[in-house]
Amino acid sequence: DAAINRIAAGEVVERPASAVKELVENAIDAGARRIEIAIADGGKTLIRVTDDGCGITPDQLPLALSRHATSKIDGSDLLNIHSFGFRGEALPSLGAVGRLTITSRAAGAEAAQIAVAGGAMEAVKPAALNRGTIVELRDLFFATPARLKFMRTDRAETQAINDVVKRLAMAEPFIGFTLRDVSGGGEGRVTFRADPESGDLFDALHGRLARILGAEFADNALKIDAERDGFMLTGYAALPTYSRGSAVAQFLFVNGRPVKDKLLVGALRGAYFDFLSRDRHPAAALFIECDPHLVDVNVHPAKSEVRFRDPGLVRGLIVSALRNALSGAGH
Ligand code: ADP
Ligand code: MG
Repeated sequence: DAAINRIAAGEVVERPASAVKELVENAIDAGARRIEIAIADGGKTLIRVTDDGCGITPDQLPLALSRHATSKIDGSDLLNIHSFGFRGEALPSLGAVGRLTITSRAAGAEAAQIAVAGGAMEAVKPAALNRGTIVELRDLFFATPARLKFMRTDRAETQAINDVVKRLAMAEPFIGFTLRDVSGGGEGRVTFRADPESGDLFDALHGRLARILGAEFADNALKIDAERDGFMLTGYAALPTYSRGSAVAQFLFVNGRPVKDKLLVGALRGAYFDFLSRDRHPAAALFIECDPHLVDVNVHPAKSEVRFRDPGLVRGLIVSALRNALSGAGH
């Protein structure tokens, strides 16, 4: 019911950037090859995510807006989460606090549209769309005025959205991303664009790194490829000379999911301890893959923390793999 959804929304959706994250993750889960994001006024008045993924059939559209109705797990194995999201919470939450319209077409089905505003759902109606899904969220938090007050400036929210999109784009180098600011109306202004990368995973990642952090970073980054006791660590770590004055160039992922985890950030810092002064932050894009049972990624739906069953093991893997790479590069 709408009240419960509004309360849940407070957990899942903190700000426009968290709505963008949920919608883009849904597009990724749908197998999209290209994802276009349009925002206006820091995402406060408009967030629109267009994908060329599998789409939703007309009969499934109301279900997509129902609480805990997810097509992704059956609920019996909550720990075994390989795809994104706090299951079945995002769309109902967004529909409870904003004006949400989903237009979609699945293979072999007709295109259809459903709308929900402040929790009031309308009937499914026919629509025109070639393929994929367009999710449009207008007037986020119009139904919860108290939350509206917590929004920061358009500029700050736009910046947070940029950050979220870049992190997701880093994790998915084979997918093309476009972020457009349509605040002024019309076609708007492209603020980030990354075409789908090709080659093997390292090629693709290297190309995406160059796109996001610059060619200079990518050309001076050390390839990381290590494994220990069921944990795989891959990615790129920059030479100490390419460190930054803040943590802006740290991209950490666990099972494909962007995280900002204290343990991992600490391990990264530890690996560079001998090579960097305290006011410098190493630049790296690191991917940890492990059996989902060895990590809990759902500590909190809107937070990007994780809980490893054996934190010491993960820390040791990161520190030793990066130190090896750095000493191999003459440090
Ligand atoms: P979850 O992602 O946890 O399943 P959501 O509320 O985010 O929950 O989405 C509910 C359901 O709607 C998904 O399980 C999926 O079946 C469908 N869905 C949402 N977005 C898309 C999309 N872009 N393409 C195809 N299906 C989607
Ligand atoms: Mg989701």
